[in-house]
Amino acid sequence: MKYVLVTGGVVSGLGKGVTASSIGVVLKACGLRVTSIKIDPYLNTDAGTMSPFEHGEVFVLDDGGEVDLDLGNYERFLDIKLTRDNNITTGKIYQSVIDKERRGDYLGKTVQVVPHITDAIQEWIERVAAIPVDGKEGPADVCVIELGGTIGDIESMPFIEALGQFSYHVGPGNFCLVHVSLVPVLNVVGEQKTKPTQHSVRGLRGLGLTPNILACRSAKVLEENIKEKLSQFCHVLAANIITLNDVTNIWHIPLLLMDQKAHEAILKVLNLHGVAQQPKLEEWTDRAKLCDALHDPVRIAMVGKYTGLSDSYLSVWKALLHATVACHKKLVVEWVPSTDLEDNTAKEAPDAYKAAWNLLKGADGILVPGGFGDRGVQGKILAAKYARENNVPYLGICLGMQIAVIEFARSVMNLWDANSTEFDPDTRTPCVVFMPEGSKTHMGGTMRLGSRRTYFQVTDCKAAKLYGNVSHVDERHRHRYEVNPDVVPEFESAGLAFVGKDETGKRMEIIELPAHPYFVGVQFHPEFKSRPGQPSALFLGLIAASCGQLDALLQNPSHLRKPIPERISSNGVFLPKVYQNGHKKGHAHKPAKSLVNGNYYSNANGVHV
Ligand code: GLN
Repeated sequence: MKYVLVTGGVVSGLGKGVTASSIGVVLKACGLRVTSIKIDPYLNTDAGTMSPFEHGEVFVLDDGGEVDLDLGNYERFLDIKLTRDNNITTGKIYQSVIDKERRGDYLGKTVQVVPHITDAIQEWIERVAAIPVDGKEGPADVCVIELGGTIGDIESMPFIEALGQFSYHVGPGNFCLVHVSLVPVLNVVGEQKTKPTQHSVRGLRGLGLTPNILACRSAKVLEENIKEKLSQFCHVLAANIITLNDVTNIWHIPLLLMDQKAHEAILKVLNLHGVAQQPKLEEWTDRAKLCDALHDPVRIAMVGKYTGLSDSYLSVWKALLHATVACHKKLVVEWVPSTDLEDNTAKEAPDAYKAAWNLLKGADGILVPGGFGDRGVQGKILAAKYARENNVPYLGICLGMQIAVIEFARSVMNLWDANSTEFDPDTRTPCVVFMPEGSKTHMGGTMRLGSRRTYFQVTDCKAAKLYGNVSHVDERHRHRYEVNPDVVPEFESAGLAFVGKDETGKRMEIIELPAHPYFVGVQFHPEFKSRPGQPSALFLGLIAASCGQLDALLQNPSHLRKPIPERISSNGVFLPKVYQNGHKKGHAHKPAKSLVNGNYYSNANGVHV
């Protein structure tokens, strides 16, 4: 096993995660099998208890691990399936050491950071790196390890010490250190400044780690004399200094690395020159160019808790993007704060109310993502009602499905007090209830987490067709509440179809309104398994329905899981597509303003993390 460690210097938010995943992409394109480990030096044992509005979304793995969103980047970029142990935190390491101490495994010794914590870190890395994550047997060739935080953070010290020992332990030729740093440009002189990088490399060396490669974030390409200066002061070969300049979308990053021969530098350090082939990244190149060239917008209103931190719904946003690119449209996400849709806001903040409803009504499709707690629930119910009554495509994820069920009960079945016991434990019409898989009395760890199987109940429904007429699908879950199985027959007679259920038939997984152009709710989170080039089926359904392509898509299922090959001229200009069914759908769209929060474009650092 060979290891590539990615560290970050100067400031956080440099796009270290995307850089590390992109390194993985290029190595994979060289024919190597790649896995990854993310180290988060915080004390939480996992990301499950962390607020998505502070830390970004909680990403959920097949095994039910609730992990840092960077693991989502790895899964999407490398098309792999990680395990909860691929995310190391200080809390996890300390917990394992303390458990061992309680068992008496240390035989009376004083348990210390060095060597006990540092040994535990190294053992963890070696053990997890050997787990196959790409569906093949046996360990991968290379493990990319990303160390969260910035060099010099107090919290990461035990990890730095452990990784220093580890590089020595695995020996030269098996360990490559890539340091991601910042080369700012001062407006006054317009000069690229190397000092912050020099300092951070000095810090790294002082801690016993020597960088092999410098990846420098900068607005523009690094000038040659700047590279030479960095090389001299940081003792890194000029050929091993890579520029990560601002790009228009993150799919360019692996290409940026490849064009600068970063893979050759890494392969040389890892003694893999002989076994690796020239990287093939045609698909990435096409997609990156296509994404830049798309201009015809599809507007999706995302109705949730508005926070300004778009990372709170990162995977949903990515899944929308994958589907939009497959439909050759430009994604415009309109964030609609659900509380602003509520009657109270009409009185208290009429402008916000008007703005929220304008956004909702101007959207081509509506998405209500997952969520917890009762704040903004009424606004989400109003959004689902609007979509249902006005034939606007709707996708409800987890809470978004439960909302749709409550709305249907209240408006269509006249059960005005229908509710979820999450929001009103004493409701007389509980249509969404607490259904733990394990103990009913034990409240801790009662979340239904990870991959579960959904069986289609009928073949003649949009969801089954979009999934390619399979009998079942495995998707990831993260919830406590579910549709009350006792009320299902009543709902079905009122016209709500439960087209997907679990193996017992008691848990409702997919709902649909057959007469609506696209009204789908899912108890699971399909966003976690969406990939660039392989959009998640139900997101593809939402986007296709939102831009008038759903019928064509359902008639031609070969398009379903594959991106439609695009014609891009050699200079990267997008040539408008003629659809296989012979017509190009004209859609009266307003021109795109901009993408809210600038996500689609690079952020201040040029990279969306
Ligand atoms: N709060 C709901 C539940 O626990 C939905 C959870 C979610 O949307 N992830 O069931």
